[in-house]
Amino acid sequence: MAYSVPPLTYDYSALEPHIDEATMRVHHDKHHQAYVDKVNAALEGTDWADKPIEEVLANLGQIPDDKRTAVRNNGGGHGNHTLFWEWMAPGAGGEPDGDLRAAIDSTFGSFDDFKDKFKTAGVNQFGSGWSWLVHDGSGLAVVSTANQDNPVSDGKAPLLGVDVWEHAYYLKYQNKRPDYIDAWWNVVNWAKVAEGFAAAGG
Ligand code: MN
Repeated sequence: MAYSVPPLTYDYSALEPHIDEATMRVHHDKHHQAYVDKVNAALEGTDWADKPIEEVLANLGQIPDDKRTAVRNNGGGHGNHTLFWEWMAPGAGGEPDGDLRAAIDSTFGSFDDFKDKFKTAGVNQFGSGWSWLVHDGSGLAVVSTANQDNPVSDGKAPLLGVDVWEHAYYLKYQNKRPDYIDAWWNVVNWAKVAEGFAAAGG
């Protein structure tokens, strides 16, 4: 079955004032839809069309040569955004707790040190891309990727990611990517991040 854009589980305006309604509408309804349409077109008629997108992205080397770039970019766009909507929630933000918090503190020194590293990775990502908190098999790490590349293609489990493409923030924050990331912490759904951490082996 072809991929589709999952409906948001909250209103387009629910992340205001941090993430504005106009951005959410065009980002979810237009940008994400375009990635879905293009990855569906690329995989149509192949055995990969019915696979979970994470499995496709984890096995890009097996995608036929003439389709690989389209799948990497647009399948990545679909997978990344599907996660991104779930990593945000109204009335969220704050700080993680439990095992996830303990792992963040021991890996990065403190929650604030983690936030600094994650923000710096996003601010310094030249052009379009993402900053991520990943589980790399042995523990937590912060990485950035270009374009719509997903850490799962490098064997790492994405636990949290922020979209630093201009389309994610330009309507409200213009060129001020650091301000967007500062505001974005107010909508991070740490309960969802903790689920991913547990699933990745904690
Ligand atoms: Mn985006």
